Amino acid sequence: MLNTKLIDKYNRNLNYLRISITDRCNLKCIYCAPHNLVPKLPYKEILSYEEILRIVKVGVRLGISKVRITGGEPLVRKGVFQFLKQLTEIEGLIDISLTTNGVLLKDNIEKIKATGIERINISVDTLYREKFIQITGHDLFDNVWEGIELAQKMGFNPIKLNVVPLKGVNEDELIDIARLSFIYPFHIRFIEYMPMGGNKTEKDRHLLAPEIKRRISPLGQLIAVEKKSNDGPAERFKFETALGEIGFIRPISQHFCNTCNRLRLSASGRLRPCLLSDYQEDIKTRLRKGCSDKELSEMFFKAVRKKPSEHNLTYDNSTGISTQMSTIGG
Ligand code: SAM
Repeated sequence: MLNTKLIDKYNRNLNYLRISITDRCNLKCIYCAPHNLVPKLPYKEILSYEEILRIVKVGVRLGISKVRITGGEPLVRKGVFQFLKQLTEIEGLIDISLTTNGVLLKDNIEKIKATGIERINISVDTLYREKFIQITGHDLFDNVWEGIELAQKMGFNPIKLNVVPLKGVNEDELIDIARLSFIYPFHIRFIEYMPMGGNKTEKDRHLLAPEIKRRISPLGQLIAVEKKSNDGPAERFKFETALGEIGFIRPISQHFCNTCNRLRLSASGRLRPCLLSDYQEDIKTRLRKGCSDKELSEMFFKAVRKKPSEHNLTYDNSTGISTQMSTIGG
């Protein structure tokens, strides 16, 4: 008799699957896919939508109820809207969301809406066109901002804006980004930079949550927002009269491993129990050899058994996590 819940040896219930549907991206963010170092997967090595849907259905039977679609950039993959629709039709999934860099939002917002997805995270690290070019290598800030405003008008809720603060890059505008929460109902999420994939960004580029809080403190007192059971790892706050929220995701300064409920499926078909450790189950090879759903379930259980109690990522990635963020999806 199969276990019916993905509970690990530290009693964490892993009910959340993050799926990277492609390693391709239309931006080249300095902290994510630096210097084009990452070779692209041949197309046949990327999981097909049918394969992903099968894996998700098995996961749902084991207790997965929450899925986030990410990449690379998920909206660059052909057929993504039809896939998202099929995903929202899977019984038992109660929370499906999308992380995007926003470049293709404005031209596709209605198609996304039609899939039934309501929650979008949009990554935007600056409010300035020139800086956007410096960070992403592309002159597309206006596209992204129009996409964000359109998403709001179309009623997506909440819209989370992911921001990776880096010294010498966007540190001078953190207060302006935080100020957006007074004008828009956005949830602004400051994510501590995670050094991975051999990308040894110098220590002095890091901006950790306590320092970010200090820098935005002229805007007022941050009032803690009560967490709900389905919440992610962000510490949530609000300025008193603000419409939106400010959140901090602190993988470095205060990791949240003891409450981590995530598994990750990479575009190459690896099931990873932890973003920040290199262990992964090669689910694709077994799938393509014609394995049964029972065997797929066993692979979920194996990944769950291998989930470390905590990651040991440090400031300078001295622990040597080799995988690039762009291949796993953040
Ligand atoms: N292309 C989509 C996007 O830009 O949102 C989805 C993929 S991206 C890898 C997902 C998230 O990971 C983004 O919010 C990005 O800012 C974050 N990210 C990428 N590399 C990171 C790093 N080294 N440290 C912290 N966050 C990172």
